[in-house]
This record gives sequence, structure tokens and C-alpha cells, in this order.
Amino acid sequence: MASVLIAPHDRVFVLTGAGISAESGLPTFRAEDGLWAGYRVEDVCTPDAWRRNPAEVWAFYSARRKAGLKAEPNAAHIALAELEACLGDRFFLCTQNVDDLHERAGSVRLVHMHGELAKSRCERECGRAPIEDRTVYRNLAEVGRCACGGRLRPHIVFFGEVPLEMERIQDEIAQATLMVVVGTSGSVYPAASFVHWARQGGARTVYVGPEPPLNASAFTQVVVGKAGEMLPGLFQVE
Ligand code: NAD
Repeated sequence: MASVLIAPHDRVFVLTGAGISAESGLPTFRAEDGLWAGYRVEDVCTPDAWRRNPAEVWAFYSARRKAGLKAEPNAAHIALAELEACLGDRFFLCTQNVDDLHERAGSVRLVHMHGELAKSRCERECGRAPIEDRTVYRNLAEVGRCACGGRLRPHIVFFGEVPLEMERIQDEIAQATLMVVVGTSGSVYPAASFVHWARQGGARTVYVGPEPPLNASAFTQVVVGKAGEMLPGLFQVE
């Protein structure tokens, strides 16, 4: 049985990807067919798709909202929330996921670098903050407008856009002595570079997932298995 020792001086940075939510019934992307829930990424997850066909983009994210509302956190989300409860501010979680299963499991010190399904924001980037929005829109006419007149878009970082909270993420990686990466294929940047940044800072690096990621050679330990089966009991906190 694999185990990862966490010493009293350790600071842990965790990066999660779509794989951690797979056992909650949310499809990953790039699985066998390179589609996300049956859609081509170029049709629904790019600034160009939004300009060309906002109705289809909203149809896709409305369907993701509907699926996300039904899903429940699994044993892996819970194991990370329990680790945070043990480590307090020596723990930091960065997720590429747009679902809210980490916070529903109890995680608090976390950022969503690719945005959040349960929020919308102005398409004009007018400076107003994203708003809570779990509406499953049936058509574009139902989608509201910002006070400035811009249409609301999903609060999602489309491919080609700059991820959120990068300064805080870089700062947390610089302080980390242990990086744990769970359920991500290592193909979406800059997240796929985090393990290299952590190694440059001298941190140990652990990957957990059913198959080695594309950047597997950068990890000091690869724990092969499903997150919901491997994470509970993996960490030995001294
Ligand atoms: P990916 O789909 O490219 O890769 C999924 C990874 O999860 C694979 O490496 C696979 O081996 C692994 N995996 C599958 N089942 C697993 C399990 N039970 N336990 C652990 N790992 C498992 O995902 P990615 O690298 O996160 O990149 C996809 C992008 O699409 C992300 O940026 C994310 O924003 C978005 N996305 C989000 C969700 C979500 O919010 N739930 C779902 C799909 C895609």
C-alpha cells in the first residue's frame, strides 16, 4: 500500500483535474474520444465559439450545471478536505475543475484556476465581479445582461484565455515542499508546468491516477489507481 509522509515542516500544494470528479459521475475530457461530454472543445470552450455561437456554449454549460448539481463529492474530495482540516494553512488546493465538489466536501483554501460552473460574468469584462448563477438556461433569450448591457457568459476560462489567480498559485507553489497532483492528463498548460515549478523549488512531487500522465517523468512518486480508492489513507501526517 502506497503512502506519503507529511512532516511537521511540510507545506502541501494539491492540483486536481477532471479525473478526481470521474467517480462522482462527471465525465473527464480527453478520455477515449477527445470529447468533453460529447462536444468538441473548439465548439464550446473557446472565445471564438462564444463569438460565433453563444447559444451552443450556453447549452453546453447549462448541461454541465445540471450534471454538476446532481453529482456528490466522492471519497477523494473528502480525503483532501480531511487533509486540509489536519494541516490548516500548510495546505493549499488548486483545481482545474469547474464543478464545486471540493467545496461541498469541505475544502476552504482553494482556487478554481479555470473558473466556476456556478457563476456567470459579463462578456465585456467590464470590471463587475462574477455573480452566483446556477440557472440551467433553455435558450439564449433567457440569459441575462450585465448592468453595462453586455451578455452574461459562463465564468469559465476558455481555452486560449488566461487562467485565474496565477499570482497566488505561483506564490503557494514557491512555498510548497510537497506537491500532490490528482487526475489530470498533464496536457493543459500552464497547469501541466506546476510540477516542474515545484521541482525547481526542491519539492517532492506525487501523482495519483489510474494511468501515468504525459508529464509523469517529473514526479518523484506515481501512485497508480483511482483517486477515490487511493487518496483515503494515503497520507501519514506526522
Ligand atoms: P483530462 O480529462 O485531460 O484528464 C483526465 C485525467 O483523469 C486522465 O489523466 C485520467 O487518467 C484521469 N482519471 C480518470 N479517472 C480517474 C479517477 N477515477 N481517479 C483519478 N484520475 C482519473 O482532464 P484535465 O487534465 O483536468 O483537463 C481537462 C480540462 O477540462 C480542465 O482544464 C478542466 O477545467 C476541464 N474539465 C473539468 C471537469 C470538471 O469540472 N469536473 C470535467 C471535464 C473537464
